[in-house]
Amino acid sequence: KLKEGLAVRPPTFCPGCPHRASIHAVRKALKGVKHVLATDIGCYSMSPLLPLEYGDTLLSMGASLGVANGLQYAVAEPVIAMIGDSTFYHAGLPGLANAAYRNSNFKLFILDNDVTAMTGQQTNPNTRMTEHPAGQPLILEEVLKGLGVRDITIVDPYQVKATVDKMKEALQRPGFGVIISRRVCALHGDRWKKKKGEPIIPNKIDKNACKQFYTCIRDFYCPAYSLDENRQAVIAPELCDGCNVCGQLCQNSAVVSTREVKL
Ligand code: SF4
Ligand code: SF4
Repeated sequence: KLKEGLAVRPPTFCPGCPHRASIHAVRKALKGVKHVLATDIGCYSMSPLLPLEYGDTLLSMGASLGVANGLQYAVAEPVIAMIGDSTFYHAGLPGLANAAYRNSNFKLFILDNDVTAMTGQQTNPNTRMTEHPAGQPLILEEVLKGLGVRDITIVDPYQVKATVDKMKEALQRPGFGVIISRRVCALHGDRWKKKKGEPIIPNKIDKNACKQFYTCIRDFYCPAYSLDENRQAVIAPELCDGCNVCGQLCQNSAVVSTREVKL
């Protein structure tokens, strides 16, 4: 009975989820390079599932770092690891200390969405949008520096080209490095917007400009997208979060903000 009315599809990232944008950028930055990805526990655990199917190991909280520390000796391909800010503080610190101390040969992506999103947007030591017992959060990059990480890159996954370019540069540098992909969880951000009375402004397809390449759907899989009866891509305004990542992917500039254009 519980299954009645459920959509027939695997679980997926929310519209506007920064993890989808981060994963898209990592794949673009490593396009054509065979590599191994050790992932971890959080919303981004959906990465190895359909439709993204990106990720080679998924074990337990914090395991991405331990697995990558070992894999660098076992495989010929470049190794990367992916962990969220919350899981990093929960169980990633020992593996990080080891990687920094040994200058391990892999890159760590920390998907910093500000909260423990998977279990309901609880706070963690990194959360900026809350009050802290000690008055301030444990700033990720400061903790990394304190543990001896010398190569730290910070990107905003909603800025697609800049993120891919910075990731490419970071991936080419030798030794251990950390790329922090920082953008608040879309659901958490929306709650704050609501509290402050700020609107969510969805995107829309300009049907005159759309040439039906379907890059928006094939490359990004945002669940706000669907096809209408004429196989025209459409965006559900009640689902769209207005992140505009899809707008940056369309070669025909056919994805526009409803803030700018009345269609
Ligand atoms: S809850 Fe937040 S982090 Fe998790 S899938 Fe949704 S937007 Fe992404
Ligand atoms: S702007 Fe595009 S990618 Fe972002 S939530 Fe809306 S439809 Fe999805």
